[in-house]
Amino acid sequence: MAETVAAAPPAVELERNYLLQNYARLPIVLTKGKGSHVWDAEGNRYLDLISGIGVNALGHAHPRIVKVIRDQAARLIHSSNLYYHEFQGPLAQRLCEASGLQRAFFANSGTEAMELAMKMIHSHGRRTSPEKYEIVALENSFHGRSMGALSLTGQPKYRAPFEPVVPGVKFVPAGDVAALEAAVGPNTAGIVLEWIQGEGGVCPVEPGFTARAKQLAEEHDALLVFDEIQCGLGRTGRWFAYQLADPPLLPDVMVTAKPLAAGLPLGAVLMNERAAASIGPGMHGTTFGGGALACRVALEAMAIVEELLPEIERLGEHFRQELRNLTLKHHMIREVRGYGLMIGIELDRPGRQIVLDAMAAGALINCTHDSVIRLLPPYIITEAEIAKAIKILDKVFKKAAGPAA
Ligand code: PLP
Repeated sequence: MAETVAAAPPAVELERNYLLQNYARLPIVLTKGKGSHVWDAEGNRYLDLISGIGVNALGHAHPRIVKVIRDQAARLIHSSNLYYHEFQGPLAQRLCEASGLQRAFFANSGTEAMELAMKMIHSHGRRTSPEKYEIVALENSFHGRSMGALSLTGQPKYRAPFEPVVPGVKFVPAGDVAALEAAVGPNTAGIVLEWIQGEGGVCPVEPGFTARAKQLAEEHDALLVFDEIQCGLGRTGRWFAYQLADPPLLPDVMVTAKPLAAGLPLGAVLMNERAAASIGPGMHGTTFGGGALACRVALEAMAIVEELLPEIERLGEHFRQELRNLTLKHHMIREVRGYGLMIGIELDRPGRQIVLDAMAAGALINCTHDSVIRLLPPYIITEAEIAKAIKILDKVFKKAAGPAA
């Protein structure tokens, strides 16, 4: 598939003329979705294996979500945080029960939720000393693109054009316990990590490394923060990826977002009481965050995810096994990895053309970190749809390898 829209429809032309040109969009205009599929303006159907980068975990137009949106939109969409509404409290309770943490704050996106986590780290540290504001984060991480979240993101390509970002962040390679031990000290106020680095190439972080991070955070009175924006809320077959460890390795602060409100913008910061003590009245807030519509939809979305949870691990393992079978045929595949329905296929070459070819063959996939095909299929995906995905990927890898010698 070529990278230009054949006959650019008005939506594309208008974007070219009026939009900030910061996105390298793929050349289709999506107009509707149902279940695991989406359709473009020309009526082509695609199997959606990326789910809006993990947001549409319940697929598209889920009847229970549509019903709740319709009902709540006609009652109360937004009321601001000046007043109570019926749904923030129950959603906070639901998230606390699912995560094992004690308090919640609602934001509008993953990045915005990360900002609060970072403010909590700074405020927590400064209660001890004005010098205690250092944060240890991981190389290859991704935490968002605001000046704060960017400063935690261990990928120079994102940070470089905007330096100086927030100072005091040290990066260590994921899994390097000696580097972690050398980086953490009395001025460390927080340690931030993803259990599975998503944007960084679907790379799980060693549980032993994370356990050491927890010990060090405790020794130095720092907050341990897990970014579960991509790997959380059922994606791995657990509510949160840190529950893959047995016993679960609880952080002080956990940030979640993407699928929380089934496509409506909503992020959440979950925390224990020690972390919550860092933020007093008036120290943080938002106009939009935690609106009535988004929170009610999130409650329904969590109820649906809970029903799907037992199947996610099995479906993910089945999908990975089918992909591993493809590695026998396609030597360009270096590794298949991930947990649940968070899957990375590392290639020996850039993946952009493979993404375009998959699209032409009827599947939406994504390439991250240049050479890792990332699949974040909806939790409602069926075995028949996985079989279809495998068929398309087989065809696309075959094309990429070129004619047999
Ligand atoms: N953290 C992680 C692990 C992410 O994957 C992302 C987005 O991809 C973010 C933070 C930023 O979230 P958002 O795009 O909702 O602001």
